[in-house]
Amino acid sequence: MSCPKRRAMVQAKTWVLTERFEGFPKDSNFRLQLEQLPDPKDGEMLLEALFLSVDPYMRAYVMRIQPGEVMMGSQVAKVIKSHNPSFPVGSHVVGRCGWRTHSLSDGAGLTLLQADWPQEVSLSQALGGIGMPGLTALYGLEEVLDLKEGETLLVNAAAGAVGSVVGQIAKIKGCKVVGSAGSDAKVAFLKDLGFDEAFNYKTITSLEETLKAASPDGYDCFFENVGGPFFSVALPQMKQFGRIAVCGGISLYNDTTPQTGPYPHTSMVFKQLKMEGFLVNRWQHKNPEGIRRLLAWAKEGKLHCREHVTEGFEKMPSAFMGMLKGENIGKAVIKV
Ligand code: NDP
Repeated sequence: MSCPKRRAMVQAKTWVLTERFEGFPKDSNFRLQLEQLPDPKDGEMLLEALFLSVDPYMRAYVMRIQPGEVMMGSQVAKVIKSHNPSFPVGSHVVGRCGWRTHSLSDGAGLTLLQADWPQEVSLSQALGGIGMPGLTALYGLEEVLDLKEGETLLVNAAAGAVGSVVGQIAKIKGCKVVGSAGSDAKVAFLKDLGFDEAFNYKTITSLEETLKAASPDGYDCFFENVGGPFFSVALPQMKQFGRIAVCGGISLYNDTTPQTGPYPHTSMVFKQLKMEGFLVNRWQHKNPEGIRRLLAWAKEGKLHCREHVTEGFEKMPSAFMGMLKGENIGKAVIKV
């Protein structure tokens, strides 16, 4: 007996990787491609993307997908057709569906957004301050650094999705916060958020002198997002027994040959530093509680989750490359 044909219901737009990035990504690395999706089967749903995320990990992890495959990435989507009772029509999910406007899913790996998500908080925040980047900030500060009231924290890429939340949570915890970012507009944003000190790393004459002036006694904690020369200059500014959370190294991701620099041993030994790398999903079991806490801070007005919104699915590659160039203040998202 032949199976009944599944009628193509929806035409999905997708962005496919044409070839692996060589250095900084370029337009020709991406191709817009149409795909016909059949009706969802039993247990499946049809999702329609509302907001998509562009993140630095897409540059760092691109070797995990083959040319010809859809670019990796998360999105907030609406369930528009469902044969899965756990995901009713009209509900919203966060899922790693890739760069595509529509997807079929059996629910694996999807997170259902709480039905009482506050109206005043855009659903796109589930990709930003009330989502993975916000949780990265929270876990880096609490689980890795164990940040204490009264301590001084340094964070770089501070005006971005993770960094801007790092600084605000550190202020909530009663700490002194010093942040660096790549434009004067970003520095003004950090000051508005309540950072004690903020500077434009592109226009200062000496990073060492700037870090010393911002905190003459040094730093208890360093939330490291950048790597490269910034890291090498910051390390000797740590206090004795200082702690460093290595969250990322965005200045390294586009390198075709590895950077070399001063080795960290002298500072690590003589300052007796502790350094730990981490991935946000280590504490996945804490996500529901983490999201609740971030949402509560946002509703109390203690956490501001600024977004850099690009309109149009067609602009995904330029939004991605723009984020890598530093065009975003806050979380870079695409509104379909
Ligand atoms: P952002 O929103 O901060 O966007 C990236 C920012 O990086 C740009 O806006 C730019 O800001 C800065 N940047 C780009 N190139 C350089 C460079 N050469 N030197 C210094 N800064 C640069 O991204 P996210 O907040 O999403 O990510 C921040 C970091 O956190 C990244 O390293 C990322 O890989 C990491 N991360 C790690 C996770 C984990 O689980 N460990 C999870 C999520 C993110 P500017 O104008 O200030 O230069």
